Amino acid sequence: MAINFDDYPCEFCGKKSTNVVFAAFVCGDPECIEKARLARGGPGGHMKRKAEGRPIIPDELMEEIDEKQQESISKIQ
Ligand SMILES: [Zn+2]
Repeated sequence: MAINFDDYPCEFCGKKSTNVVFAAFVCGDPECIEKARLARGGPGGHMKRKAEGRPIIPDELMEEIDEKQQESISKIQ
């Protein structure tokens, strides 16, 4: 299936997209490509996390969960 880029504006500046990077339509502007990269959580993004066997949850959230787990563990001890 061919992608008609005319149908998909850049997700970050709204200009005509020319690329699909990190599962986002972007124009050729390196700034937009960088934004797309950051929006997907860096190189590989969630796919990398998946490959590493890690949950697809942001680290901040994981830390919060860890703290709660440690709390309940210390209550048991
Ligand atoms: Zn753009």
